[in-house]
Amino acid sequence: MRDAVPGGTIVRVRDVDVGGKRIIVIAGPCAVESEEQVISTARVVKAAGALLLRGGAYKPRSSPYTFQGLKEDGLAILGKARDATGLGIVTELMDARHLEAVGEYADAFQIGSRNMQNFTLLDEVGGTDRPVLLKRGMMATIKEFLFAAERVAARGNSRIILCERGIRTFETATRNTLDLNAVPILKHETHLPVIVDPSHGTGKRWLVPHLARAAVAAGADGLIIEVHPNPDEALCDGDQSLRPDDFIQMMREVKAIAGVLGRTM
Ligand code: PEP
Ligand code: MN
Repeated sequence: MRDAVPGGTIVRVRDVDVGGKRIIVIAGPCAVESEEQVISTARVVKAAGALLLRGGAYKPRSSPYTFQGLKEDGLAILGKARDATGLGIVTELMDARHLEAVGEYADAFQIGSRNMQNFTLLDEVGGTDRPVLLKRGMMATIKEFLFAAERVAARGNSRIILCERGIRTFETATRNTLDLNAVPILKHETHLPVIVDPSHGTGKRWLVPHLARAAVAAGADGLIIEVHPNPDEALCDGDQSLRPDDFIQMMREVKAIAGVLGRTM
């Protein structure tokens, strides 16, 4: 597949090219909680160099008893954040029935780890011309991950960004085991951009900058990072969310590594 586009495919998300020389960072809260939370986070991450805003309005929570997302109200908040900052929006599409509503606000559809093999959902996004940020299933092999991407492409949409977000192993020190082997392997096997999510890959705030640096060193084209103005109060994934100051510092470090590799940020 790499031979099809030797230089690599560039996927444009709103006004941002993913997969080129420039390493891109997508940042924002795990979940949209309020207008104030999203817009303040968007301003901070933009100032630190993030190029796209993340935030879930529909949340695929493992427990049905926790916050499930603000849904349509959350989408409207993301729209306001885009208007306020100009940042393109990456947000999860959990269900094909939400395609139209999410499509009104999403500059890229995020397909979550739990839905990587939801084949009807893959077919649906494959039928659009919107970029798809496809996260690796937590139990998926690299081969299965690539089959999922091929399913999207087979429907006509090859604007796919692959995202390594950690897999389940016997290790309990971290939420998932971030498989950085996947980065060079995916870059070798495909022509698609590859990004890394060290937030879900570790589950621990203090580990995130370490793995963000390692991901860029391994050749990732970008990062997706959870940031929250007050992680202790977060309704979702507070333990792995960076505080704004941590994010600013992480960006400085990652930029230095990008420079060593002849890449920009
Ligand atoms: C997320 O990005 O908040 C998320 C739910 O990610 P994943 O699908 O990788 O668990
Ligand atoms: Mn999350």
